Amino acid sequence: EAKIQGKRRFCLFNDGMADKVRLRMQTEQRLRQAMHRQAFELHYQPLISLSEAQLVGFEALIRWREPDRLIFPDSFITIAEECGLIHDIGEWVLRSACKQAKQWQDGYPRPLRVAVNVSARQFAAPDFVRKVGLILLETGLYPHLLELEVTESTLQIMEDSQRVLGELKALGVSIAIDDFGTGYSSMALLKHLTIDRLKIDRSFVKDTPEAVRDCAICRAIVTLAHSLMLSITAEGVETTEQADFLAKIGCDTAQGYLFAKPLPQEALAEYLTLWQGRLAE
Ligand code: C2E
Ligand code: MG
Ligand code: MG
Ligand code: MG
Repeated sequence: EAKIQGKRRFCLFNDGMADKVRLRMQTEQRLRQAMHRQAFELHYQPLISLSEAQLVGFEALIRWREPDRLIFPDSFITIAEECGLIHDIGEWVLRSACKQAKQWQDGYPRPLRVAVNVSARQFAAPDFVRKVGLILLETGLYPHLLELEVTESTLQIMEDSQRVLGELKALGVSIAIDDFGTGYSSMALLKHLTIDRLKIDRSFVKDTPEAVRDCAICRAIVTLAHSLMLSITAEGVETTEQADFLAKIGCDTAQGYLFAKPLPQEALAEYLTLWQGRLAE
């Protein structure tokens, strides 16, 4: 009995683990092929100004198109980060989103910005800022129409976040802290870093306006943002009650299923047609 246990303890590589490793390697391989075959696409979720009831831009969200299904980023971005493929994927996302936004820039008198999610390893890459600059030059998108979304943990793990943010600012790009309030040391980051926007995480929005604590938290984040001259966006707005509450407390922008789900290319064109009149004002 003791012997078996001892053996077990030193058996570092059991069948379950072998399966896991195999699955992981397969996923990495499939991700590489997906990059190669251009199987990724961006869906665009509208950003709505609550005070003006106006479309002000879109957040680009990556999807992986397989013949039989669509794969969402939560199930592959981490793996892409760990195997280093995030650099290629991230560059593709940035370039595609900027190209798309350049078409809006040329098509409408109203400015429409594009928000792009940047992962930690991408942000930390020594040539990240240079790449952003090159893509802006290459696509002709006005830098102020590009907003990069990073999380608190991304900014946290990098000692020279402030330098990178400074260089991005110098390019004219704006920066948002995504999922604000879910990471650590949010206040310490705000004390030291120059950013442009906070995005209230969906977890704080979803129980408003019924849950008093959630309402208090949203109010506090909006007040904090405005005191620091930052803009504020609420994520995951699903009901008119939530939108009314957020408008009442002074939240600038909102996104969520109430307005639209992230839109694939064809639906995006249709959606923009609906706004055409307002965008021409
Ligand atoms: P995120 O940046 O916080 O994006 C918001 C997520 O909430 C998106 O999920 C969006 O589809 C979803 N969402 C929007 N409105 C609602 C709503 O009203 N209700 C609910 N329940 N959900 C809503 P998605 O597209 O699955 O993306 C998940 C996360 O993956 C993103 O969170 C972002 O962190 C990451 N991600 C997405 N695209 C990229 C990318 O191109 N690069 C990188 N590095 N990460 C990405
Ligand atoms: Mg985001
Ligand atoms: Mg978010
Ligand atoms: Mg998120």
